[in-house]
Amino acid sequence: MASKRDYYEVLGVIKGASADEIKKAYRQLALKYHPDRNPDDKAAEENFKELGEAYDVLGDADKKAAYDRYGHAAFSAGAGAGAGAGRGGFHDPFDIFREVFGGAGGGGGGGSIFEEFFGGGGGGGGGRGARSGKARGSDLRYDLEISLEEAAQGVEKQVELERAVACDTCATTGAAKGGSAKTCPTCGGVGQVIASRGFFQVQQPCPDCSGTGQIISNPCSDCRGQGRVEKSTRIKLRIPAGIGEGSRLRSSGNGDAGFRGGPAGDLYVVIHIKKHEVFDREDNDLFCEIPVSYAKTTLGGELLVPTMEGKASLKIPAGTQSGTVFRLRGKGMPVLNRGIKGDLLVTIQVEVPTNLNAEQKEKLKAFADSCGDQNTPMSEGFFEKAKRFFS
Ligand SMILES: [Zn+2]
Ligand SMILES: [Zn+2]
Repeated sequence: MASKRDYYEVLGVIKGASADEIKKAYRQLALKYHPDRNPDDKAAEENFKELGEAYDVLGDADKKAAYDRYGHAAFSAGAGAGAGAGRGGFHDPFDIFREVFGGAGGGGGGGSIFEEFFGGGGGGGGGRGARSGKARGSDLRYDLEISLEEAAQGVEKQVELERAVACDTCATTGAAKGGSAKTCPTCGGVGQVIASRGFFQVQQPCPDCSGTGQIISNPCSDCRGQGRVEKSTRIKLRIPAGIGEGSRLRSSGNGDAGFRGGPAGDLYVVIHIKKHEVFDREDNDLFCEIPVSYAKTTLGGELLVPTMEGKASLKIPAGTQSGTVFRLRGKGMPVLNRGIKGDLLVTIQVEVPTNLNAEQKEKLKAFADSCGDQNTPMSEGFFEKAKRFFS
């Protein structure tokens, strides 16, 4: 599991493949590797699972966009020692298979294949929410734009978003006053039932209680038995200094509230940094171009250079050419969590004077005459080369 295969590779499609092509590729391969067709074949089973995972992502517009942007990292946060099992967030490969082949409308004769494998079990319980059988709320994503200054200094932000929160009316039980929850007789309160498919025994969410293990006699009218309601909420976020474009911050427990008191999902905030008027950024370094007068670059002198913390002085030597880059150490962006900073790289742009008055022109002509062909180090080299080229 150390190195995961690329999902496009798993499905054997190119990155720009359409939703139809992705689905078609999944259908073909899923049939080929389905455990019912490959009894006792571990490799086929692994392939089938891998296909399910790949299609779970590429078959869903949101997840696909996240994957295209961040790769596997988009789904790996919070992996490991989480409170709830099954945190990875992928769905049962059999559920995915059933959804593709048995889904509403089916298209292209899907129905018969569904029958072939599952004897027409139909529908599949309570739809999406019930698929995983876990009562955990969904993870949410919020895209937040901040300025480069905010990224440099770190900032606290409040974001407002619609999400599911605990229903106060029923204290997340989902039951109205007088109503009660009783243990689901079908699964005995476990929320899962064992189904056999060919040689395999598969756990799946109980169809009668949608995997919750309980049946509510008189559901709460505010949340319709969900134990949670949609609400606009404000969430405070701390954005650390030095954060980069596209970084994801996890706000633990600030996703959707769980189903009937189940654990909440997490909120993932994706940071976008506005383009700055003066500075470009590359990792921890900042770049800027500074126009400097012809006279000053010729004679040398001191420049005032903008930095994130105000102006800094930069001495340039006499004869500084256009395009020369000066590095100001430690004047770049902070390095995340390290207490050090990158550099600021200043590129000099020599400005040719315009709109000279008669006197200035006169003086410049006199200056040019006094120079003759001298004092132009770059053109000397250039004309040497040109001479060789023409001869
Ligand atoms: Zn309620
Ligand atoms: Zn049940």
